[in-house]
Amino acid sequence: MTNSTQTTDIVVLGSGLTGLTTAYYLQKLNKNFIVLEKQNRIGGVIQSSKENGFLYENGPNTGVVGNTTVVELFEELEKSGKGIAELGGKNVNKRFILKNAKWECMPLGLKDAIMTPLFTLKDKLRILGEPFRPAGKNPHESLASFVKRRMGKSFLDYAIDPFISGVYAGDPNYLIPKYALPKLYNLEQKYGSLIGGTVKKGLREKKTEAEKKVSRKTFSFVDGLGSLTKGLYESAGTDNFILGAENVEVQHSENGYAISYRNESGETVCIQAKNVISTLGAYTLEKTLPFINKNEMSKIDSLIYTKVIEVAVGFDKWDGKKLDGFGGLIPSKEKRDILGVLYMSSLFENRTSENGALISVFLGGVRRQDLMLLNDECVRKVVEKELKDLMKLKDFKPDLFKIMRHNWAIPQYGLESGERFATIEKLEKEYPGLQIGGNLRGGIGMADRIKQGKEMAQKVV
Ligand SMILES: Cc1cc2nc3c(=O)[nH]c(=O)nc-3n(C[C@H](O)[C@H](O)[C@H](O)COP(=O)(O)OP(=O)(O)OC[C@H]3O[C@@H](n4cnc5c(N)ncnc54)[C@H](O)[C@@H]3O)c2cc1C
Repeated sequence: MTNSTQTTDIVVLGSGLTGLTTAYYLQKLNKNFIVLEKQNRIGGVIQSSKENGFLYENGPNTGVVGNTTVVELFEELEKSGKGIAELGGKNVNKRFILKNAKWECMPLGLKDAIMTPLFTLKDKLRILGEPFRPAGKNPHESLASFVKRRMGKSFLDYAIDPFISGVYAGDPNYLIPKYALPKLYNLEQKYGSLIGGTVKKGLREKKTEAEKKVSRKTFSFVDGLGSLTKGLYESAGTDNFILGAENVEVQHSENGYAISYRNESGETVCIQAKNVISTLGAYTLEKTLPFINKNEMSKIDSLIYTKVIEVAVGFDKWDGKKLDGFGGLIPSKEKRDILGVLYMSSLFENRTSENGALISVFLGGVRRQDLMLLNDECVRKVVEKELKDLMKLKDFKPDLFKIMRHNWAIPQYGLESGERFATIEKLEKEYPGLQIGGNLRGGIGMADRIKQGKEMAQKVV
């Protein structure tokens, strides 16, 4: 039974980074909207915590200033006093890749790629010949096959495989470049070559002032990424948010949409709105949008999400390998029990006391879902063994040890993605006012989420 009814123009489902950015831009456009969030807090997977002098992340650690919306948003937040982005980070370009149990510097350009011990001589010659190789014709070629064809097997094993572990916690044999790395795919399709395309693109394309500020620069925020989501929440107007909204269900009607939820007092509330913007994971949609037919929904919720364990490990005094860089990634060929390590205290100020160290360690991912079954004690043992060995730690007595389990961490954009995107486009035409966003389309990184949030807010107008 419905206890009360409200009306608004737009209902946004979810207050992770996508929902918050959408709300931020709706507010800028003076729209009437309500954000419904299941949890009692905003931010979704982005949560920063402070404990014992450490400032650590529970979800993503750093993003990339990858598009103009990120540049614009961060400038606006800083101007309005709602958050200061920390860009770059010290030694950010110093990244390591493990080969034969030894950390090697990740090559940053063609010269490095020729000098590095990571690739075989045959593949180094192959890399030099990359601009002369014809473009692929199969839009559904796997990332592994794409990379082997253009750059060789050792480049796949010791550059792309660890990169994909770091970004997707995924497997290059499953991911499809057209969907998972569209910029890379388009370089080959447009210019015929990745190396040649990067050079030509840089020379040919004129950039606006905002585009010139787009970069591969890493970002966090002063006080952690939680201050980005807090800044968005406050700017969007906290009164527009309903937290702790359970059993959210949307029904379509002639007048638009009826959105019901159970509030914290256990009452069922109904909201009438002309527009609904979902930013929820694909796995929640069948229940939330029951008016969509099962066959179409199956093309959306077939999306696979990998599970990841993240561990924040802090030391008041560090006596291991010097932490002067971004961190280290571990190729699957090396057969280790962790995916990689981020040197958070090396990247950003105020993450720990002066002589301390804070690192984030990742386990699991598509290839090691078995590790998700480990209890906390076993996770600790794995992390201890790997850090002692790989980070040259004599003693393992951390002053902070926090385990975060993400059961729906990163969606894997595989072969089925084309159908998912097409189905969503069709549904959005069939049901005016409905937008289905979130990380099930448009990219998995924080920069992608910010870009999509703005686009969805503008689309309502
Ligand atoms: C462990 C981890 C590490 C990552 N590392 C990086 C990184 O280094 N760099 C990077 O750029 N990106 C990274 N990402 C990805 C990035 O964090 C996400 O893409 C982004 O934060 C997702 O934001 P979102 O709003 O789309 O989804 P979410 O953050 O998942 O937010 C969805 C929101 O919807 C709410 N919700 C769910 N169901 C309902 C319902 N039925 N009704 C109402 N509300 C509901 C949830 O409670 C949540 O608040 C990482 C992600 C994870 C998990």
